[in-house]
Amino acid sequence: MIKRKTMVLIGCGFFLSATLSLTAFFFEDYRLFLFIPSVIILVVSLVATQLAYGYYLYKKNTQAYKDGKVPCPYCAHPVEQHDQICSNCHKDL
Ligand SMILES: [Zn+2]
Repeated sequence: MIKRKTMVLIGCGFFLSATLSLTAFFFEDYRLFLFIPSVIILVVSLVATQLAYGYYLYKKNTQAYKDGKVPCPYCAHPVEQHDQICSNCHKDL
């Protein structure tokens, strides 16, 4: 699973971004200086989420292949060697 620390960091990113956006809404003179960092923080949070999820899938699949599973030829989901149907895409193997 994705570590709790990563989720807390991503949550803080979203919270900070939302706070800056709200602040930017009320202070018209500094709108640009507040809005740009909030967008940057939001994008970084989204990218961090995707990277964390990708790393989680990579670790999970690597462990599955070590345990003797093979990748599905259609979707690359780890399946048992004697399986007839993929548990992820439901295609005949
Ligand atoms: Zn599949």
